[in-house]
Amino acid sequence: MPEVNPELQRMASHALEKAEDAHLSIIDLKRDVQLISQELSFLKTFSRRLLDILKLQYKLDDEGLNELIRQTEGAALKLEEKAGSGVAPLCQSCHRPLQQDSATCIYCGAPRSSQDFERPLGATK
Ligand SMILES: [Zn+2]
Repeated sequence: MPEVNPELQRMASHALEKAEDAHLSIIDLKRDVQLISQELSFLKTFSRRLLDILKLQYKLDDEGLNELIRQTEGAALKLEEKAGSGVAPLCQSCHRPLQQDSATCIYCGAPRSSQDFERPLGATK
């Protein structure tokens, strides 16, 4: 029986511990993703119902509904600009404010470019 290097043994057990921690983190993350998926699916259904109600209430067709959504988004954007979050750069693809800690636009999924970090809100390129 060859003698086991105690330093190697220590490193191996440390690596095993780290692997177990990582495994537990992955299980936690999987559960989080599952919860978020459920919530998204609920929100999707809920939003569809709200849009149906809007269409009925205002007697809109799909085009009218889209126009209403565009107007609402425009008004919301103006409010955000007025609130002067000041530092939030805009997505180059959909021109909505980017989240500081997100690598992609939360609205359209476009990846943010490095200039986005420097360009302040309202600045024209
Ligand atoms: Zn976007």
